[in-house]
Amino acid sequence: MPFSLHGIGVSRGYAIGRTYLLQRNQPEITEYTIPDAIIEDEVQRFLNSLEIARRQLRDVRVQVPPTAPTEVAAFIDTHLLMLEDATFTEAPIKLIRTRKCNAEWALKIQRDLLVQVFEDMDDPYLRTRKDDVEHVVRRVQRVLVTEDPSYLNDPDYTELASSRLEGRIVVADDLTPADTILMQHQGVLAFVTEYGGPLSHTAILARSLGIPAVVGARNARAYLGHDEPVIVDGRQGVILLGLDERILRYYRHKQKEERQQQRELNKLKGKPAITRDGLTIALYANIELPEDAAAVRDVVADGVGLYRTEFLFMNRPDVPDEEEHLASYLHVIKTLEGSPITIRTADLGADKQVDGGRGGGPVCTNPALGLRAIRMCLKDLAMFRPQLRAILRASAHGPVRMMIPMLSAIQEVFQVLRLVAETKQELRDRGLAFDEKMPVGGMIEVPAAAVCAPQFARYLDFLSIGTNDLIQYTLAIDRVDDEINYLYDPLHPAVLMLIHNTILAGHKAGIPVSLCGEMAGDPRYTRLLLGLGLTQFSMHPTALLEIKRVIQSSEVAELVSVVRRLLRTTDAEKYTEALKSVAQN
Ligand code: PEP
Ligand code: MG
Repeated sequence: MPFSLHGIGVSRGYAIGRTYLLQRNQPEITEYTIPDAIIEDEVQRFLNSLEIARRQLRDVRVQVPPTAPTEVAAFIDTHLLMLEDATFTEAPIKLIRTRKCNAEWALKIQRDLLVQVFEDMDDPYLRTRKDDVEHVVRRVQRVLVTEDPSYLNDPDYTELASSRLEGRIVVADDLTPADTILMQHQGVLAFVTEYGGPLSHTAILARSLGIPAVVGARNARAYLGHDEPVIVDGRQGVILLGLDERILRYYRHKQKEERQQQRELNKLKGKPAITRDGLTIALYANIELPEDAAAVRDVVADGVGLYRTEFLFMNRPDVPDEEEHLASYLHVIKTLEGSPITIRTADLGADKQVDGGRGGGPVCTNPALGLRAIRMCLKDLAMFRPQLRAILRASAHGPVRMMIPMLSAIQEVFQVLRLVAETKQELRDRGLAFDEKMPVGGMIEVPAAAVCAPQFARYLDFLSIGTNDLIQYTLAIDRVDDEINYLYDPLHPAVLMLIHNTILAGHKAGIPVSLCGEMAGDPRYTRLLLGLGLTQFSMHPTALLEIKRVIQSSEVAELVSVVRRLLRTTDAEKYTEALKSVAQN
């Protein structure tokens, strides 16, 4: 009888094949005290294990197929960099020397510390970076436990690198980016993991490599047999078992359709996004890491509409300096050769704990409403100024725009503009080049700013609507709280009115308005946003071609009149009807 398991679909596509259950266990860690006389030997044992772990990763890295998107190798590099970083190298050694604990234990203490830092973050992307810490630590611990200098004898590695995985659907507890690459090399059809989320690097990699994947399918290995025929639906996050001929026929047909659709979408690369009635829409991409710029280039986006620079502040006790900021921005500029790059100043929050040595400070009971984003930057100028200098200096190398997150009061704009003017003078004094006319824009993601959008539009060079936060603040729904997630409604009339008000304000002031929240990359909302007058979208690069397809088949004039009616109606039924008719346009 057919039966289904559910998880989170993170990389769409359908796979039909037999399972391969990876029964890996966490390395067994014993904790013990080291006698003084052999402490340095223990330090050496730890250093050797780091070196072996690095060698393993380097070996995996050379197996990245040359045709794979550049971010694939970049994720392995991230793990390699972590293995070079003082948080992984020096901190455990200090623990071995001061607390006299064995290497495995020292590493575990350090891991717990780092994982806690990530778990406390409220940005879902940054929070999932704890997976990288877990993956790197587990690799080193496995080396320590097996005491084997050759990873080729590591059963996990040999299993993943074996051709037995070809054409199989791998089911595991969790997978690292390195595992994912090895599996792709072996021709794995799809993977299912019991843990992990949609923003994990493994999920991102699966999307880049085009492997259908479902993560967070709790207890999957308890219900799935080894070598059992299953279907994985990577879009819906479903695993079907107990298959009969009818189900198989249906999914084979879906597979064929999907392949055809992807081929069609790929043809849209480099083509303009023009609506049926001739309106050109700009499609930008959102990035989190400098390496993500490669994916932006691959889909031929019009540029970067949102570069979330928080990543630079992560996983370190200090704050990045001007040169580090600059190096990251130059990497993006170089990768995208001449396309506009919108660099958002740090959107850190009181609870994000990337506090650069400022210490814990008082506990913030309501972090989303607290010292976050531009509020924090204006309070901590020692942290903010180097970023301002670097953004301005980057503007000498390509079309850079600076964007301020979470504006709520116009005074914040004045303060930032004053700081920008001061920074320009400083750079002139230092004889450093920058673009005198670098545009400074702001994110409209607080309802107060959306209501007062005309004021903001008067002093800023562009606006970008951050719907992720705008919805959270308008509807009083914590965007990361699962319990009230059902109320998170992008179609709430209040949200649409605020978006509309912001777009109108921008148009009236003659400045561009884009939208860079998740709504921009969701094809269900594309026509509605066109009807609201939006002409610039910024989204995850993988969503871009599908959105372009919807745009090319839309008639804006018609959408605008339906949406106008929709915004005026007080009748809930008529509202729903108008929404439906927008979706069908
Ligand atoms: C938003 O709030 O919509 C947005 C794009 O910013 P972030 O998701 O980084 O808060
Ligand atoms: Mg936001």
